[in-house]
Amino acid sequence: MISKKSIEDVEVEGKKILMRSDFNVPLESGRVRDDTRIKAAVPTIQSLINRGARVVLASHLGRPGGEPKPELKMNPVADRLALILGRPVHKIDSVAGPEVNKKVVEMQEGEVLILENLRFEKGEEKNDPQFARLLAEPFDLFVNDAFGTAHRAHASTAGVASFLPAVAGLLMKKEIEELSRCLNDPARPLTAIIGGAKVSGKINVIRRFLDLADNLLLGGGMANTFLVADGFTLGDSFYEEEMVEEAADLLDESEESGCCLLLPVDLAVTKELKTGSSFKNLSPEEVEEGGKAVDIGPETVALFGDIIADAAMIVWNGPMGVFEVPPFDSGTAGVAAAIAGSEAYSVVGGGDLVAALEGLGLTEKINFISTGGGATLEFWEGKELPGIAVLQDK
Ligand code: ADP
Ligand code: MG
Repeated sequence: MISKKSIEDVEVEGKKILMRSDFNVPLESGRVRDDTRIKAAVPTIQSLINRGARVVLASHLGRPGGEPKPELKMNPVADRLALILGRPVHKIDSVAGPEVNKKVVEMQEGEVLILENLRFEKGEEKNDPQFARLLAEPFDLFVNDAFGTAHRAHASTAGVASFLPAVAGLLMKKEIEELSRCLNDPARPLTAIIGGAKVSGKINVIRRFLDLADNLLLGGGMANTFLVADGFTLGDSFYEEEMVEEAADLLDESEESGCCLLLPVDLAVTKELKTGSSFKNLSPEEVEEGGKAVDIGPETVALFGDIIADAAMIVWNGPMGVFEVPPFDSGTAGVAAAIAGSEAYSVVGGGDLVAALEGLGLTEKINFISTGGGATLEFWEGKELPGIAVLQDK
């Protein structure tokens, strides 16, 4: 069980704090299009300010690849954060070095400063110790609140902790708590739902839930790979040839596990994947040459729905179909509706799935939505995330 110190466990008054946030937000014409991630950082920032700390925020934005890119400066983030906080947020055009050191020393208690895009510096993604030392230099404490990048060992997520005491922010703390629920003594029956495109990126998480869960429901493109492993041909559907053998092994293993693994019993099959295109709901053996299985069908939604209705806890990663192309969002919507109608405690993670649920307006009834994609998967796999490992133990 992971038990890390958070900002609630340490003295912060008067301290100069380097806070790593995930402000990797979508931009549009130089402005922030979606400020969900900025808002998610506010409780930690507010708590630190209220307790008299000097807060200096650092994040990456986009993929500048180790050099300055004017269109990826943090200015739009600073502007939006100032609006949300209702107080000035100072912005500096460098990431680390004498200019930053000077500015930090001059800061008053309760002031907020945001550094330039961390990935303008080559040392960031390389986790260069010299850069990490420079980044840490003017500070007394490191607060990591960027769960979404915690699976990366970068200077600002892991390296700085060699030079500063490190604790979790409130968002990080909440992510650890919520994502741990299904790993440590979950409410049962525990039902795991896994979808998305590829088996390859999620094989470890599938194995983990085969171990942990009472039910494992598979959908999306990855279910195609399992159906092929089960002997179906599936026409021109997407699947991963190189993962078929491993999927077959996993199906065998599932027979001896205490977990009930379910694959789709029907699929939405289309000849052409485009918005509004016609399709048929077919059982796996009915899919013919030229047909593409792009969503789970209504019988599968009903079957999964029955299991969901009986669950006490649900974890879900990855959409059930090509949700970007309606009507092939209906399997994902159907599963979300079943979760909304169940009494189970639900935890959802995965960049595309969360985007799908937001688009469908179905996020309200989910108990916890993780801000991580890859980080959430690695956490559930049971891997040690570098950005969490460096935090002080409780
Ligand atoms: P997440 O980000 O939620 O973990 P993934 O990145 O694994 O999810 O997968 C999301 C992608 O999977 C989406 O782009 C979606 O279009 C695709 N996908 C889902 N079902 C299918 C399918 N049956 N065939 C092809 N692609 C699919
Ligand atoms: Mg994805």
